[in-house]
Parts: sequence; C-alpha cells; structure tokens
Amino acid sequence: MPDTAYPTPRNAPPKPRAEQPRWVLPEPGPSFEEIRLFRKQRLAAALRLFAYYGYDHGPAGHITVRDPEWTDHFWINPLGVYFGHIRVSDLLLVNHDGEIVIGDKPVNLAGYHIHSAIHRARPEVVGVAHSHSTYGKAWSTLGRVLDPITQDSAAYYGQQALSSFTGVVWEQDQAQKIVRDLGGRNYAFLENHGIITAGLSVESAAWHFIALDNAAHAQLLAEAAGKPVVLSPEVASFTAGQYNQRPDGGRYGFQPLYEKIVREQPDLLD
Ligand SMILES: [Zn+2]
Repeated sequence: MPDTAYPTPRNAPPKPRAEQPRWVLPEPGPSFEEIRLFRKQRLAAALRLFAYYGYDHGPAGHITVRDPEWTDHFWINPLGVYFGHIRVSDLLLVNHDGEIVIGDKPVNLAGYHIHSAIHRARPEVVGVAHSHSTYGKAWSTLGRVLDPITQDSAAYYGQQALSSFTGVVWEQDQAQKIVRDLGGRNYAFLENHGIITAGLSVESAAWHFIALDNAAHAQLLAEAAGKPVVLSPEVASFTAGQYNQRPDGGRYGFQPLYEKIVREQPDLLD
C-alpha cells in the first residue's frame, strides 16, 4: 500500500442508497393537446440542434412528427426558415395531400413527398429526420452502409438501408422508392444525398440522425488514416442488441440535448 498523507477519518462515510435512482424521461399529459405540444416542442428543439451541429444547408432538410389526433397529418418545418431560428409557432401542419392545414409559410415539396410517403406507409413511425449534413452526405456517396468499427456504430449493425439516387424528390414515385428501400428499417443512406432516419418518436429520429452522422464522420476519419478493425458479426450483433433493448431508446440519447438547447435557446418554445 502506498503511504498517503490523508488524515484518519473522524466519521464513517454516509450509507449508500438502497438502490440506484432511475432515469425517468418527461412524458406529456394524456390529452391530444398536451401530446401535440410535447411533440412540437421536441420537433422545434431537434431543428435547433440540427443547426447547432451544422446540419443546415440552405433550404434543404426537414424533420417531421405525426400529429397524435389527426394521424394522417404531420408537423414539419417551413421552407426557407433557418433551422436555428425555428420556434414552435413556426411549425406547419400538413396533410397527406400536401395541403397546409395550420401555418402561413410554404412547405418544401421534396420534404413533403419523402416524409409523407414514410408516415403513410409506416403507421408506427412518429418522427422522420433528414438533412444534407456533411458527413452523412459524404458517406452516402460511397454506396456502402457503415461498418461496425466502434461501439457506437455497431448499434446500427444490420439495420441500415441504401437507396440509390433518382434526382431531387419532387415526385411521389421517387418517394415510394425510398419507402421500398427502407423496408421495415429506420435508418438509410440516400445515396449521393444524405441520411434519413425514422423512429417511434421525433426524439428517436433526431437522435439516431445525430448518431449516424457522427458514426459516418468517425469511419471517414478512420479510413482516411488507415484500415480500421471491423468487429466480428457476432460481437457487432451482440452490441447492437445491447443498444436496442428499448424500442424507443433514442429518446434517452435525445433528452440531454433537448435540455441543453432549451436552456440555451428558450425562445424555441415560443
Ligand atoms: Zn434532401
């Protein structure tokens, strides 16, 4: 034992807690109005976070959340408003015919087509996120899914789709192709375009977008520097299972970021 200069304790240490406190996420009240506001606040926060991470690229990119009451409608950011300036009151409610039901700003046609097609085909999907983030866009040109080269990227092992490029998505047919390529999965690289994520909440869709862009960044760096060690299929599958124990676990990734952005930019809730 090393000789230390610590004095002899005067008291015994406090007793440990009987059990570890649980991490409890905030939940909305039971009414449609409370759930709607909860979802819109997280959508606005996700857009502010996308600006914080530099995922804004002119008017490209959109995040959507399904309305809890009118489930064939969804909330989306308006065309031409900087992600970093979005407030809850800026969000548009659109229906599956592309008509604006609430809001006085235009909607991005490509965004409407892609998101509408996914919300329509996948009733369980509540949130969808897409933007032209630099690392996701760079990775999307390689025609490959991410390899399980880190603990974090192994979370997506066997769960990523690829969808080849057909031009700016101004037609329903193009959006239907993305839906087919996505299948039942929630994560895709739209080739020569960028990342798209879907989730059981807008928090999950946003968190997994951030995590996939980060994983793309890490693999681009690693492959630029050398030949990264790829985890075995067994270890990658095991790790993915560890990460995906909760069906909507992305909410836990999002929550600290939500608290950060609301504390720093409280006007997003206006
Ligand atoms: Zn796009």
